[in-house]
Amino acid sequence: MRIIIFGPPGAGKGTQANLISEEYNIPHLSTGEIFRSAIKNETPLGKEVKSILDAGDLVPDEKVVALVEEELKDDKYDDGYILDGFPRTVPQAEAFDEILDKKGKTLDAFLQLEVPEEELIDRILSRGEGRSDDTPEKIKNRLDVYWNETQPVLNHYKQQDVVKEINGVGSIDEIFARIKDTFSN
Ligand code: AMP
Repeated sequence: MRIIIFGPPGAGKGTQANLISEEYNIPHLSTGEIFRSAIKNETPLGKEVKSILDAGDLVPDEKVVALVEEELKDDKYDDGYILDGFPRTVPQAEAFDEILDKKGKTLDAFLQLEVPEEELIDRILSRGEGRSDDTPEKIKNRLDVYWNETQPVLNHYKQQDVVKEINGVGSIDEIFARIKDTFSN
């Protein structure tokens, strides 16, 4: 199964992606995690993207697309994966379409986690992950970036008829149960 999990910052994408990865036995590919780990390990990529992540801005499309394309060459992704945090712009979505096309593969589902905007900031502040981009000012920027650049990705996938809207309000288990329901129907 090839799945994208999508939604604004604070919607719970990472948490649900981990559960999906375990339940369906597919690897979880999070571009944000790749960047955070590169920053922590002070790799050349980490040094390049640190100030971008710190500001809550987006890493340039070409860089993210090249990284995902390279990562997906690993055999472990042959039987499917769950993408979390990618694609985040329409050009990234178009590039991902091409990557799939070249491999003769298709996307099975685009899960859209719906959470009211008022709840997002509270959730991020209370999750206490200690991320350098989890301060009120940076969260505001990340949400602005989401509404301006990332939200249009939803329309891109609506045209492909793969979007499944998931109510993202409730406990982790409740939300996960809703996700599993969409796959059993
Ligand atoms: P996330 O963990 O998905 O919230 O991502 C954390 C940060 O990593 C984002 O605020 C961006 O700075 C960067 N990032 C992650 N994925 C992407 C992407 N697909 N395109 C551009 N920047 C990204």
